[in-house]
Amino acid sequence: MDQDKVHVAIISSPGMGHLVPVLLLGHRLATHHGLGVTILAVTTQTSRVESQILASLTNSNHLNLIKIPSPDISNLLGPDDAVVTQLAIMMREARPGIRSAISAMNHPPHVLIVDLFSGDSLPIADEFKLQKYVFLPCNARFVALTMYLHVLDKEVKGQYVDQKEPLKIPGCVPVWGQDVPDPMLDRDNQQYLEYVRMGINFSTLSDGVLMNTWRDLDPASLDALRYNEILRSVVKVPVYDIGPLTREVNEADLEGNEVIKWLNKQPLESVLFVSFGSGGTLSAEQIIELAHGLEMSQQRFVWVIRPPVGSAKDGAFFTSGSGPDKPPDFLPEGFLDRTQKNGLIVPLWASQVNILNHQSIGGFLTHCGLNSVHESIKAGVPMIAWPLYSEQRLNATLLSEDVKVALRPSVLPAEKVVGREEIDKMVRSLMEGEEGKMLREKVKLLRESANQALSMNGSSYKSTCEFISCCKMKMK
Ligand code: UDP
Repeated sequence: MDQDKVHVAIISSPGMGHLVPVLLLGHRLATHHGLGVTILAVTTQTSRVESQILASLTNSNHLNLIKIPSPDISNLLGPDDAVVTQLAIMMREARPGIRSAISAMNHPPHVLIVDLFSGDSLPIADEFKLQKYVFLPCNARFVALTMYLHVLDKEVKGQYVDQKEPLKIPGCVPVWGQDVPDPMLDRDNQQYLEYVRMGINFSTLSDGVLMNTWRDLDPASLDALRYNEILRSVVKVPVYDIGPLTREVNEADLEGNEVIKWLNKQPLESVLFVSFGSGGTLSAEQIIELAHGLEMSQQRFVWVIRPPVGSAKDGAFFTSGSGPDKPPDFLPEGFLDRTQKNGLIVPLWASQVNILNHQSIGGFLTHCGLNSVHESIKAGVPMIAWPLYSEQRLNATLLSEDVKVALRPSVLPAEKVVGREEIDKMVRSLMEGEEGKMLREKVKLLRESANQALSMNGSSYKSTCEFISCCKMKMK
């Protein structure tokens, strides 16, 4: 590696939603800004799809990938530990592996970037005298809430979900209790303490925070993070809006892909894509209602389907895309026969970016994971926001109430079953109603603003250059 080149090492925690944005950040820094990049990916039992995505994003020689096997944490976990707790513990225990990987590098990095769950690795940067940044694949509102949380922790009494008034974060749109990220739902749970600590670490241990977002998605929160005096006194470090970083269409995967072949035969913007990210699962009852709702709407659809779990949640987080490929026997009787002309069922996993960018797609029923949201916006596809876990309720509110590119059911899908009549109505409204038309126009404008932000001299491009200048200055 060229000795004068800025070399960054980026740590990724397990899970597609974490690994994909880290790889995209690495790719962007290497290809658009000429940095040397090493990805330190802590991987769990890598699934077939995870390996494929890893290969497609790293085979260009721009990135050096070091896989760090995930440590065995079984004796550190309680039976009911949430995904956030599991990830936080896993990434803490992965530190020796990360440390050895860095010390074994022939050309040591100048900068260490940690992701959402690897903030406890920031002190490793001090050991090696590296600059240290945090990369959050999250919107600005989430970043403001996370970094301000230790103040709310002192000010707010009782559970956040029970508050009569929304939570006030200086300069930002207030956050309703029902929208808080999962770790904030129960203040007595271990994952809440982990989450408070994460927010504190970002401002006290790092030199700055990179966010996978762009200005027009949430200008108020971004401005508050930069300029609001009260919030600044808590955030302390510079923040950089450098997104949206999304995967491109994979041309190699288009040919011979059965879903794409089917989409090729459908009219323009006529198909609803239904998918709940890499780990989202629905209850048996909700799957039945969704199936009936789709059928009643008589709209065309492609539905990526996973077996049901007890309740809607993140049931497949560590196993994304793996499992039995058998045809779903949990759908209503006769559903497949009755909908075979209009609909396509895809078990477990589909090439989401390729599908969303197909001209026949006219809507996306999504769990509102940030990558999915960005991919939909970049494809100019309006959404039905169906949040399940993590910070997805916050994203859903941003999409439906602020930027107005999504419809949203009247109940929270993770708490109550959304009935077939409401699904039917929402789907029709999105696909053929006046409201859908307005959302489609809006999302296409937002797509333009995202492209603009990433283009030379756009806000995200400039912000990335500022971050790199800062690194170079400190290297001198
Ligand atoms: N994904 C995909 N095919 C699927 C499900 C998910 O390609 O069938 C990809 C999707 O395009 C996105 C990522 O997996 O890039 C999921 O990330 P997101 O933040 O949307 O949700 P998470 O899985 O983290 O909840």
